[in-house]
Amino acid sequence: MSGFSTRAVHGPPPADSRREQHGDLRPPVHDTVSFAFASAREIADAFSGRKPAHSYSRITNPTVEEFERRVQALAGGRGVVALASGMAAISTVIMALGGAGSNIVAGRSLFGNTISLLAQTLRPWGLEARFVDMTDRDAVAAAIDQDTRALFLESVSNPQLEVCDLAALAELAHGRGVPLILDNTATTFYLCRAGELGADIELVSSTKYISGGGSSVGGLIIDHGRFDWSRSPRLAAFAKSFGPFALLVALRREISRNIGACLAPHNAYLQTLGLETLALRVDKSCVNAQALAEFLQGQSAVRRVVYPGLASHPDHELARRQFNGRFGGILTFELADRDSCFAFLDKLRLICRATNINDNKTLAIHPASTIFTEFSPEEREKMGVSEGMVRISAGIEDFADLRDDIAQALS
Ligand SMILES: *Cc1c(COP(=O)(O)O)cnc(C)c1O
Repeated sequence: MSGFSTRAVHGPPPADSRREQHGDLRPPVHDTVSFAFASAREIADAFSGRKPAHSYSRITNPTVEEFERRVQALAGGRGVVALASGMAAISTVIMALGGAGSNIVAGRSLFGNTISLLAQTLRPWGLEARFVDMTDRDAVAAAIDQDTRALFLESVSNPQLEVCDLAALAELAHGRGVPLILDNTATTFYLCRAGELGADIELVSSTKYISGGGSSVGGLIIDHGRFDWSRSPRLAAFAKSFGPFALLVALRREISRNIGACLAPHNAYLQTLGLETLALRVDKSCVNAQALAEFLQGQSAVRRVVYPGLASHPDHELARRQFNGRFGGILTFELADRDSCFAFLDKLRLICRATNINDNKTLAIHPASTIFTEFSPEEREKMGVSEGMVRISAGIEDFADLRDDIAQALS
């Protein structure tokens, strides 16, 4: 099999011969809601599922399907569902597995909106969220019971930059009959081979690295095809009819269809384009992040730098093994207090003051006053978000320019 970038650029062999009509080197954008059929019989076959066909773009669309095919060729797995956002992918999967009286065991330092989804949005529906320290295996084991429907964690938590032992947690989850869901946004399937490490479901916010420079919002659900969905009460009926495809069919024919957070064809096109240069951009941002972390360590105003690529990081060796020798594009550092952070951010000339991560542009933010502003100072402290923390998402610019900008902003 050819290498990652070759596959990313050329894609899998075309599924649809019509696409080759003009020799297009890029798939067309099918900006349409509905699709006409030659006969009543054909449309009936499409609706009953006897013959796969596109009927309505909330459910499937050829451009979105092409993006899904290309993701699958890179990430592996049994199938992929692309949705409107990372949060759409997360909420759709949780609704496919959980329900009243059940619980999800999740990392305590997750992406803020994921915590809010689990702890607030889904609570009135009777789903319990149990937040635990994913680096503490005993705590994880103790939190799982017969009503646990999934273990949910992130490859690198943000902004704490904690890395968990995925293979060990997968083994623990599977021993208890529970699927492991990995939010692989920060590392993607280029750096972190989620399926090989034991994840059953991989989720990626394609808004970040995949969109190719912050062009569009999107999300991916990848079923790695190792979990027996008949063990998941919510999917048992689907498993009877569709066996190993239970989750994918349940998403397509019920849950994702009914929630309706579909990816727009034009955004699928942009993200297909982004996928082609994924490895190139991830590599460059990781090199920049490493160099920035090392540079910041030598600055007197900086009290601490956190980056998995530094030998001082507690999970450095684990991250090296799990992420293909690289450490991602996000780092944080500590200044004296909030005022010093604001002064630093205000002086930046090149680096953008913006939320989002893994853009082509380097972005900086003060998490305590922005992403975590809804939490009290005590809660933030518990979450590892201090008043003096600055988060940097390294882009793909020339390192010397980033270094010079940071140096002048710290002075
Ligand atoms: C951004 C992000 C999400 C949410 O993705 P959206 O595309 O913004 O909905 C989920 N998880 C992680 C780790 C993220 O960084």
